[in-house]
Amino acid sequence: MSDRLEAIYSQVLNRNPGEAVFHQAVREVFDSLKLIVGRHPEFEEASILERLCEPERQIIFRVPWVDDQGAVQINRGFRVEFNSALGPYKGGLRFHPSVNLGIVKFLGFEQIFKNALTGMPIGGGKGGSDFDPRGRSDGEVMRFCQSFMTELFRHIGEYTDVPAGDIGVGTREIGYLFGQYKRITNRYESGVLTGKGIAWGGSLVRTEATGFGTVLFAEEMLKTRGDSLDGKRVTVSGSGNVATYAIAKAQTFGARVIACSDSSGYIVDEAGIDVELLSQVKHVERARISEYARRRQSADYVEYGSVWDVDTQVALPCATQNEFDADAAERLAKNGLIAVAEGANMPATPKAVELLQSAGVLFGPGKAANAGGVATSALEMQQNASRDAWDFGHTEQRLTEIMVGIHERCAATAEEYGAPGNYVLGANVSGFVSVAEAMLAFGV
Ligand code: GLU
Repeated sequence: MSDRLEAIYSQVLNRNPGEAVFHQAVREVFDSLKLIVGRHPEFEEASILERLCEPERQIIFRVPWVDDQGAVQINRGFRVEFNSALGPYKGGLRFHPSVNLGIVKFLGFEQIFKNALTGMPIGGGKGGSDFDPRGRSDGEVMRFCQSFMTELFRHIGEYTDVPAGDIGVGTREIGYLFGQYKRITNRYESGVLTGKGIAWGGSLVRTEATGFGTVLFAEEMLKTRGDSLDGKRVTVSGSGNVATYAIAKAQTFGARVIACSDSSGYIVDEAGIDVELLSQVKHVERARISEYARRRQSADYVEYGSVWDVDTQVALPCATQNEFDADAAERLAKNGLIAVAEGANMPATPKAVELLQSAGVLFGPGKAANAGGVATSALEMQQNASRDAWDFGHTEQRLTEIMVGIHERCAATAEEYGAPGNYVLGANVSGFVSVAEAMLAFGV
């Protein structure tokens, strides 16, 4: 990195002690931006990068709620409103015991660039809580969400900040959150949250969008080498929303998806994953993935192991950050891996990305490859603003156009900056330039 970038980076380290994943996310962007230093003196003069690394607003709050036994529980809530240069802060809420300020900042920082890449008018933000929905009753989840919104409502709005889901936050949680927002404000402000149910202002395709988009991005990458997903052996990590719809979409392209996982282990199903059964087990029954193997003869379950131990041609990491490490990258690259598209946010470690790229494996970073989710959230906002509801075909068509556009934009930027095929560079530089131009226009 240049001296100037190093100086800004050490300021980030000093200002945000102990926030390792946030540092990692910043470092990764800076590694790409070293190529543009000197090309944009106007950004340097206005200290755009220094400003970009400091969130516009960070909110931390107490979330008290009463569990089914009548005991008072306390969790911590977060919303980091990172950057509003391109539109209202936009990004999900993550409910998971690992959530802390550093994780929310890393996710919010990524979101700025991702949202810019979609070309839609949305800024970047993220939030969440260390609340663990697993094993909690509907009533407990509802009371937690109501308490969470009782503080959050004053910070959000359709022109201010528009949260959505992420890990641990799906349509059920968005419903409880929206209900409480509506109750407190006395406003049916549909555009204040996305990922809503279809009957109450949600958009068709939003549930499928992240997984669908990741696969569309993978297909676009493969096309650049005259290849496609058709007939490919594919593995996916995770079995949540993103993973499930990535599997379904890959199958429509003719891929043979043979493995996926959850936090307890993974399954291998050489006959190809039965998405209906997977959904039944994971989404309807909220059971462990071992249950899938128990009910399906062609499937084996491996407890605790890593799904990346399974040889594959296309890997779609759709679980969580830093789940795909250098060992996995090295082993898979030697055993026929062609492409990786990130459905999760930053699932590949920096070392893994480096190894994949130097082995000539196509690599689509989450900022680009999983942007279909937030892009469809922006389509939901459009429908809410015009009090309209689009059909599935039209919405999916828009998602496809957006993903093809993001791929083109990343590829063209990488080419322009002398690194053809480097989607990490293309995504970071292209996203950065859009945000930086808007920030410059607004003055200090
Ligand atoms: N949490 C998703 C993401 O990582 C979606 C955010 C949204 O729809 O606002 O992009």
